[in-house]
Amino acid sequence: MRRTFALLALSLVALFPASSSALARSGAATDAAARKAAATGKLDAALDSIRLENIKADIFFIASDELEGRDTPSPGQRIAARFLRARLERLGFAPGAPDGYIYEYPLYLPRLDEAKTYARTSLRPAGEFTLGVDYFIQSRSLAAFEGNAAVVFCGSGREKDAPKDLKGKWALCFDDGKTFSDVLKNLTEAGALGVLMAPGPGYDDKPYSERFGDELRRLRAADVSWPREDKREGVLPVLWLAPSAAERLAPELFGDNAKRNPKPGTELAASFAHARVLSGDNGTVLCENVCGFWPGSDPALRDEVIVLSAHYDHVGWRGQKREIHNGADDNGSGTTTLLAVAEALATHGPLRRSVMLMWVSGEEKGLFGSKAWTEKPWLPGQGRAVCNLNIDMVGRNAPEKLMITPTAKRAEYNGLVKLAEDLAPLEGFPKLESCDTYWDRSDHANFARNLKIPVAFLFSDVHQDYHKPTDDPDKIDYDKVRRVSRLVVRMLNGLQEDKLKL
Ligand SMILES: [Zn+2]
Repeated sequence: MRRTFALLALSLVALFPASSSALARSGAATDAAARKAAATGKLDAALDSIRLENIKADIFFIASDELEGRDTPSPGQRIAARFLRARLERLGFAPGAPDGYIYEYPLYLPRLDEAKTYARTSLRPAGEFTLGVDYFIQSRSLAAFEGNAAVVFCGSGREKDAPKDLKGKWALCFDDGKTFSDVLKNLTEAGALGVLMAPGPGYDDKPYSERFGDELRRLRAADVSWPREDKREGVLPVLWLAPSAAERLAPELFGDNAKRNPKPGTELAASFAHARVLSGDNGTVLCENVCGFWPGSDPALRDEVIVLSAHYDHVGWRGQKREIHNGADDNGSGTTTLLAVAEALATHGPLRRSVMLMWVSGEEKGLFGSKAWTEKPWLPGQGRAVCNLNIDMVGRNAPEKLMITPTAKRAEYNGLVKLAEDLAPLEGFPKLESCDTYWDRSDHANFARNLKIPVAFLFSDVHQDYHKPTDDPDKIDYDKVRRVSRLVVRMLNGLQEDKLKL
């Protein structure tokens, strides 16, 4: 198919150079034809640079066990980002982010950093408490905290017992297993530094290990979310002490030698120190999109930037058996499609318009990487994004099956989709199917919603290994990924007219 096209272009030049009425026009036509022939040659070279073996090598790396499924955030995901960056640097792409090739954006991760979290009493020996054994904390009161102070016994902590002034001190209360909210209110009003709860004489609820076990699992497995406005600063830290720990902190109140009727307001012999530390910077973690910029050659058009995107993250370790999910198709296939396109662009040289290649993270957590970028886009110079082509899962199912959204059935249907429909048959996809039901399911949705630009999404459907540990590189149809990559290059080439028809 490609060869026929090249020959046709050449034969047109041969047949019609002198057929125009005016000489000047004839000269211009010859120039245009020559330019077209040169462009065709460059396109051919670009398409030829896309090799099945290269794509295979890249997917086997991206979907290797050593990257542990590229969860956002994780070391494997960050290594993948650096691999992509190195490739951009080698190929001569310009940095596509303010400080290089990596566009950072914050997410909230309320996960306890247990190595830095501690609780201890000044009474020795054995003053150190162990989280999950001696004490428990709840996720809803989780905020960074560090404090070392005297401890005041506050009885039940209810109205009748709670001292009025606890400024800067720990309040230790007998837990009666009843509602806790009024206790917390009283102690907050009294200015307590934090609250220590321990089973009192009348306590008949479950042991804390059972009562707070799920909380602890949640704290340890906390996942990223979109940053919260409220950082929970000023929330009183609450610790739930197991009976043995309570006795070690306050032998005068707990255990066999305890006083019968201790008086609320009494200060204990021991002081208490506690720190709780959240992942990253007080629960804020910086995540990474990788952005490479390919500047356009036409001064009038180069500020119009075509954005190609693919998410490079996946879901990491998951499931009952805690297995690595390699995500070879999801989205190793899209990730390496963009790498193949990067090589093709390097072979081709500049297009008239600029191209931004963007590998986003956080897709599997809620399209976070693309949400961050489209809410705060950054492009070199005066660049502005004019359209987005997003590629996610293009390496499985029948060789000729490729889907697209938005189709003509949606209001968002546009010239970019039309271009894909026109060019797809050249790469062995006779008719693009609709994946309109996936309109909201990948990163293009954020480009459409937040930047209000035309978008298209290429996808070849889910399969039995979708989000399973078995989405592995040996199941990928590499020729299909090669053809999708070629289609993307053809689309870029088709977007170089004087006026974009989107
Ligand atoms: Zn996925």
